[in-house]
Amino acid sequence: METVMTDVKQKVHNFSAGPGILPQEVLKQASEACINFDNLNLSLLEISHRSKNFEAVMLEARTLAKELLGLGDGYQAIFLGGGASMQFHMVPMNLLRTEGYAAYVNTGVWASKAIKEAQLLGNTKSIASSEDKKFNYIPRNYPIPGDADYCHITSNNTIYGTQMKKFPISRIPVVVDMSSDIFSRKIDCKQFDLIYAGAQKNMGPAGATLVVVKESILGKTGRNIPSMLDYKVHIKGDSMYNTPPVFPIYVSLLTMRWLKKNGGIDWIDKVNTQKANTLYTEIDRNPMFIGAVEKDSRSTMNVTFLLNNPELGADFDKMCKEANLSGLKGHRDVGGYRASLYNALPLESVQALVDVMKEFEKKNG
Ligand SMILES: *Cc1c(COP(=O)(O)O)cnc(C)c1O
Repeated sequence: METVMTDVKQKVHNFSAGPGILPQEVLKQASEACINFDNLNLSLLEISHRSKNFEAVMLEARTLAKELLGLGDGYQAIFLGGGASMQFHMVPMNLLRTEGYAAYVNTGVWASKAIKEAQLLGNTKSIASSEDKKFNYIPRNYPIPGDADYCHITSNNTIYGTQMKKFPISRIPVVVDMSSDIFSRKIDCKQFDLIYAGAQKNMGPAGATLVVVKESILGKTGRNIPSMLDYKVHIKGDSMYNTPPVFPIYVSLLTMRWLKKNGGIDWIDKVNTQKANTLYTEIDRNPMFIGAVEKDSRSTMNVTFLLNNPELGADFDKMCKEANLSGLKGHRDVGGYRASLYNALPLESVQALVDVMKEFEKKNG
């Protein structure tokens, strides 16, 4: 078992955009918990979510999520099912008044989907968009309306490889889809009123979504909300109103523990910056490649790039495969390549990719 795991680590550099790479030690601990959890001689998968052992998992996961985001009293962290896409609907359900409207910044496919769902429940206004250039930049200098019920942004656009560096400053609640860069960089999260993130990009396996919400913004819509879609119901139930997705929550907890143990957000911010700089430096230096997005909008999590000569694609793909680089194919809407540098991806993997890019230049340049 052990040797197989080590082999896997050494052999494959996993740049998958999602579900994405998890730390090897987390995968090992998770697999152990599937057989014998907490020395109960029972699997995590076959015990009650109301057992004291799982209640401890839930409490620690909720506490640690807030701690890593630097959020204290006034905020509640809950783990829900349904993916980040469920939040596209749940956010307006809980925050959009029937007579009101919500402001959205449209930075890509996910933001557009969020807008579409909100429109089913009320009015929305797109206050900024980068659709004119196929979402290859983050809009700047747009006003935030003071009378909207909330402003919705996407901190990192997984598909295009753009990332917000500055955030809208506003009196109205700011809601962030942080699915693909949660726990990846130092940001003051107190400027946000609701953060949500599907687990499978940078936190854990698919199946759980973290929602962290400032409680004081809830309960103002005048709408009757079905229980399962009501944040207040889940908060009141300590995130166990119904059976929560126990396994993804547990693995997310293991990942958060791994992050904290290694130095938390301060540490990972430095690591992620170094990884991204290493790759962008090579993209800019190497005449065979071009970056896919505007420089000041570049993401540290999803690095998108194109071949100057797309006809050489098959050759580059072959070289990547031979070097055991996996998951680099760009999203079908963008083409080219996308290297996702999520927290668990080591710098060595980025270096392995850079080596292949240099070799490719030698061969074809
Ligand atoms: C992947 C992703 C989503 C959708 O997540 P699901 O969990 O599949 O619903 C939403 N927003 C962003 C930014 C994403 O990267």
